[in-house]
Amino acid sequence: MDGPSGSGKSSSARGVATRLGLRYLDTGAMFRAVTWWMLERGVDVEDPRAVAALAEEPVLVSGTDPQAPTITVDGTDVAGPIREQAVTGAVSAVSTVPEVRTRLLREQRSIIGDGDIVVEGRDIGTVVAPDADVKLYLTADPAARAARRTAELSGADVAATEQDLVRRDAIDSGRATAPLRMADGALHLDTTPFTLDEVVDQIVALVQQ
Ligand code: C5P
Repeated sequence: MDGPSGSGKSSSARGVATRLGLRYLDTGAMFRAVTWWMLERGVDVEDPRAVAALAEEPVLVSGTDPQAPTITVDGTDVAGPIREQAVTGAVSAVSTVPEVRTRLLREQRSIIGDGDIVVEGRDIGTVVAPDADVKLYLTADPAARAARRTAELSGADVAATEQDLVRRDAIDSGRATAPLRMADGALHLDTTPFTLDEVVDQIVALVQQ
């Protein structure tokens, strides 16, 4: 499942995995975890060479239970810190660095193994798992996406959240390596008018076809 943030990807990916008894992988959390580690180390995340030089260093462990996904870096639980503004503001820059993408691609494919997993991100259908049984591209209106993200982040401002989403979309779609785009053979689902349960129902029906 690919799509921009706030498209309903994470919640629906977890919902679908839970319903179908599959594992779940949030690849965005992996990019966020690397970004968190770079910031902790004082690395200039706007300097691609500095990021590339350390791209292999942080040790990531991603738990794949859709009801309790976990992520640690060098043994530290970073599930909370990776959602903070400092990481959100820096993650798109770190994600454009090819060495980071190559490293995480290797780990994502190793976690995916033989399948039985719902994977969400920006380049799953195009790069990570182009042969997936079902490929989905989720979108939603920017206003709906900002409202959803704001509801998840207590105290966030809708207008500022929308601005940040639009800024990240531009970087994620415009980068040279693995830009965000709909994969060949993917199904486009605009989640704007639907509740989470409705989206999950539609995807489960598709998978079971
Ligand atoms: O999904 P989430 O918003 O947590 O992802 C954070 C960032 O990680 C995205 O804005 C994007 O820059 C990057 N990302 C990526 N490729 C993926 C998943 C996330 O480049 N497969």
